[in-house]
Amino acid sequence: MADIPISAEFLEQPFFPEGMSQPDPDDPINRGFWQAAAEGRLVVQHCAACATPQYPPELNCHACYGFEMEWRELNGRGTIWSWVGVAHPAHPALREFGPYVVALIELEDLPQIKLMGAVVDADPDTLQIGDPVQVVFERTADDLCQPRWRLA
Ligand SMILES: [Zn+2]
Repeated sequence: MADIPISAEFLEQPFFPEGMSQPDPDDPINRGFWQAAAEGRLVVQHCAACATPQYPPELNCHACYGFEMEWRELNGRGTIWSWVGVAHPAHPALREFGPYVVALIELEDLPQIKLMGAVVDADPDTLQIGDPVQVVFERTADDLCQPRWRLA
């Protein structure tokens, strides 16, 4: 297992209830994203040939069609670009959960990419577009950590 950077933040308690469906950390296109997340690092796929960032990850670059893709680490900071307070249980495990906030995060060092994720400490009555956030990781399985966001 790789060394976990000191700056990596992990939730001490799970945010979502047990029983949620989980992404596959061994999916070949997304594996690098999940490996970095398990180490507390946020990465976005870039093309090794033309450096175009791409999210979600794909097999090849949509700009130059190259097949050599790589992962570049981000600083994990961003701002709320858009958000919604979710009250309807979109999954059976969420029946007694919520409301909670799902946001599109504009990344500080890659603003053309918007990542979607839950903001674990946001109040839907007071959250504002432009509020600063910081990535935090939630371990949701032995081999899986998922990025969430908290207000910075
Ligand atoms: Zn490219």
